[in-house]
Amino acid sequence: MNTKGKKYHLLQVIIRIIPIQVKSAPWNCLLENCLAIMNGLSFALAVVATQNLFDAISDAVAGKAGYRECVIQLSLLAAVTFGQQIINGIQNFHGIGILLPKSGGKLTELIHKKVKRIDPVKFEDTDFLDDLNKAKEGIRAITMFCMLVFACVSFYGVYFAAIGTYLFKLKPVLIITLLMAFIPAMLAQIVNVRIFADLEGESAPLRRECDYYQNTICDREYFKETRILGAFHFFYNRFEETLKILTGKIWKAERKVALFQLMLDFTTFAGRAVSIYMLFTATMSGEITVGMFAAVFAALTQVFAIMQEVVKQHMGNMNRDIGKVVNFIRLLDMPERTGEKGETDFTKGIAAENISFSYPGRDTPSIKNVSLNIADGETIAIVGENGAGKSTLVRLLTGIYCPTGGRVLVGGLDTARYSSSCVFKGISGVFQKYQRYKMTLKENVAISDTTIEEDSNKIRRVLEEAGFEKENIGLEDMLSPEYGGVDLSGGQWQRVAIARGLYRVNGLIVLDEPTSAIDPIEETKIYKQFAHLAEGKCALVVTHRIGSAKLADRIIVMDAGRVVDAGTHDELIARPGQYAKMWAAQAQWYERG
Ligand code: ATP
Repeated sequence: MNTKGKKYHLLQVIIRIIPIQVKSAPWNCLLENCLAIMNGLSFALAVVATQNLFDAISDAVAGKAGYRECVIQLSLLAAVTFGQQIINGIQNFHGIGILLPKSGGKLTELIHKKVKRIDPVKFEDTDFLDDLNKAKEGIRAITMFCMLVFACVSFYGVYFAAIGTYLFKLKPVLIITLLMAFIPAMLAQIVNVRIFADLEGESAPLRRECDYYQNTICDREYFKETRILGAFHFFYNRFEETLKILTGKIWKAERKVALFQLMLDFTTFAGRAVSIYMLFTATMSGEITVGMFAAVFAALTQVFAIMQEVVKQHMGNMNRDIGKVVNFIRLLDMPERTGEKGETDFTKGIAAENISFSYPGRDTPSIKNVSLNIADGETIAIVGENGAGKSTLVRLLTGIYCPTGGRVLVGGLDTARYSSSCVFKGISGVFQKYQRYKMTLKENVAISDTTIEEDSNKIRRVLEEAGFEKENIGLEDMLSPEYGGVDLSGGQWQRVAIARGLYRVNGLIVLDEPTSAIDPIEETKIYKQFAHLAEGKCALVVTHRIGSAKLADRIIVMDAGRVVDAGTHDELIARPGQYAKMWAAQAQWYERG
């Protein structure tokens, strides 16, 4: 199911998001609504208190009531206003200071859990990355949106129902003028929802692009290359161009919204003028008392101010936020990679049965009709030119991606049918783009297997096996200058990554060229060590270097997504072909070895 093109209407969004919000902080949501109801009632109560005060004053002036009655009514109004301020203060503090951060944490957790269940191949899909980015950015907006929904129902709902009844009882036509002022403005805001939802959809990829160019200019990871290559202006120009398109789109949307806003101001003004005129004529004809006039006049001022607040400010915020809420819902609705439970049995090896694979959004398959069996205890090397499909094949053979055609059996489990956590159990790997965790040396290694208790002796052993030598670095040392620790050289980082792969308990181990910063002789040494450690297990190694490939039991030669040759090193160099050519070109690298 593709959720990308799915449209969500305001009501649908509210129905979906409110239960999620309530679940994230149930007691706080309840308290927020109670406070809102009390707040709404206190506003309505203030109108009645105002009417009573003015009636008492006009009666006192006419000699029908005493001074004491005026003081009592004034005190009551003061008490209501004071209570109103207190409730308002508590509600503001609770909403922003407690509900918002509490829900923020829970909603972020929801995103993290969802991301864990999403098919890894989705991370190759730029649309998905946009959605994820948008959903992460929208966390705060979700709670703000829900708080507005709560306010609309519990505060404004109660307030308008109470005031509406009061006005209706006074003069039914008054309520119609209120609605007349309110409805066109509401309609204008509904149109705004569309504008901002569309804007969000269009601006997220541009924002991502801007962030990327900004990183290439400012980030530690990029700045050396950017400076040396003199690429600053290139990236800066790209940044400027993208920002210009982005701000152009924002400006266009804001302009449309401003026009609607103008319409809103005009209709609100007209509605108010008509209401006051009707109130004035009713007082002059003796239909209502002076106290009622004063109270309703004050109430109308407040009603219009509140309407302005609801429609102009709150509905405006809702419009801005709805796009973000929709992105969050869209992420939650994304299909997940689920599957049956099962145990891998690596004595059954790994099998690829006529598999093909295309990356999302690409027409040309990166793997075409590959069939391959890796027996238990066999080490396979995959060689081939850049872009031949080696890494993609490894991702399929380890179950990270599911083939778009054919099937892969890892330890007897069909990767498309069984849950990825079952398939991954027992697989360890070191990949080209391994991570340099800003953590201690110990954590950098032990993170590959959090299911076992951290074992310092084992960590030391695998570091040694990976050839990590740095006498002055201890297991507890932080590997990050940003956090007051040390940095390692590229080669040392690679050895830490290899140690991490070796540390994990496994039945299949993969080395996908993590060794490019190590010279060919050193790489061969590591691969030799690796082959020794992998004895009795299934092992997959990807390499461009024949010196490492020849250690494998069998070598697979890939070209343009297909397996074009296979055999032992001796068999492959004995016949003309890509492998023999590679061997001839690289033989001198190993002369001293
Ligand atoms: P190298 O030796 O350079 O690492 P490789 O043999 O491992 O290359 P792959 O990385 O598997 O090759 O790429 C195989 C094909 O798939 C290439 O044509 C590449 O352009 C394409 N490809 C790889 N990754 C992606 C991706 N994330 N999205 C789209 N196409 C991709």
